[in-house]
Amino acid sequence: MSENTITGSCNCEFIKITIPKPESLVLCHCINCRKSGGSLTSANFPTNPKDMKVQGSELKQYQNKGTSGNSVTRNFCGNCGSPLWTAISDPNTVFVKGGLFEPHSIPAPSAHLFAKNMEDWEVVHEGASRLEEQ
Ligand SMILES: [Zn+2]
Ligand SMILES: [Zn+2]
Repeated sequence: MSENTITGSCNCEFIKITIPKPESLVLCHCINCRKSGGSLTSANFPTNPKDMKVQGSELKQYQNKGTSGNSVTRNFCGNCGSPLWTAISDPNTVFVKGGLFEPHSIPAPSAHLFAKNMEDWEVVHEGASRLEEQ
């Protein structure tokens, strides 16, 4: 593994993902991210799919209508159910889930998306922009 990449895995480790060392992390508070992740916030690395390497079997997909009405494809492990990445209509960007990677390899968030859904007690991280929608 190169020093310029990080490798993560789903919970059962059937699927491994390698991406360039991320420079930015975006926190998404959209309803689809909440429900598909079972978590209030989704920590995503915007990544060019050409730079992403996926190894392993059991990959499953779910077509989801995004808040914007566009179709998004949620990729997850069919064995353990871990969300892996989301593909949107832009073919040059996928959102890879930050929680798949080792602790202490994650940069501070640069933006909160769909911040209108943040709970009253959630805070915008220092230095991050707050976008009410995407
Ligand atoms: Zn798995
Ligand atoms: Zn989202």
